[in-house]
Amino acid sequence: TMTDLIYIIIKCTNFAAIKHKNQRRKDPEKTPYINHPIGVAYILVNEAKITDPEVIQAALLHDTVEDTDTTFNEIEHEFGVNVRNIVDEVTDDKTLPAAERKRLQIVHARDSSHQAKLVKLADKLYNLRDLQTCVPEGWTEERRQEYFKWAKQVVDNLRGTNDQLEASLDAIFQKECPVQ
Ligand code: NDP
Ligand code: ZN
Repeated sequence: TMTDLIYIIIKCTNFAAIKHKNQRRKDPEKTPYINHPIGVAYILVNEAKITDPEVIQAALLHDTVEDTDTTFNEIEHEFGVNVRNIVDEVTDDKTLPAAERKRLQIVHARDSSHQAKLVKLADKLYNLRDLQTCVPEGWTEERRQEYFKWAKQVVDNLRGTNDQLEASLDAIFQKECPVQ
């Protein structure tokens, strides 16, 4: 029912807020980290017109395992196995070196589920918009450009998923990394 849906979405938002409570984004203003997962979920409902509750829950939770002490079992216990599996698909293995993690994101994008692809597209769109607004402290212009080029490689393997998100991402790539 509608009541159940509101309950589960707010439960998810609250869970993520508690988990990310001590984290900040990398922008010079040190925005609270929770703005990011909430913003990714909002891109999905507002721009991509996605109302699949599992996708919205996974968006809200998508960085909890990667960036906090949250475990996949905890996610499954609180939100069910389907949400757990989507979060798993969008979580990098932090035991791997950074370059390998970035390579695997490109490779794994193609075989992801439709639900995971939606979360990945909205996550990339949010982060690229952030990088258009302000460069994280310590980043060179070259590093920023490399990030856009890498993100384009990931997004190229997520295509055919959501026209609206892909059009917004393409507009960013045309501006930030036009074909040489
Ligand atoms: P990082 O992976 O270190 O940072 C980008 C990630 O930070 C985003 O994907 C996003 O992930 C998160 N994030 C937090 N705040 C912001 C924000 N305001 N704007 C955008 N993203 C934000 O960057 P790189 O991919 O460039 O680096 C990967 C590795 O390479 C790192 O370990 C780094 O040490 C190393 N490195 C790379 C250099 C280069 O020139 N490329 C130079 C020096 C080091 P999320 O959605 O998960 O929050
Ligand atoms: Zn993210």
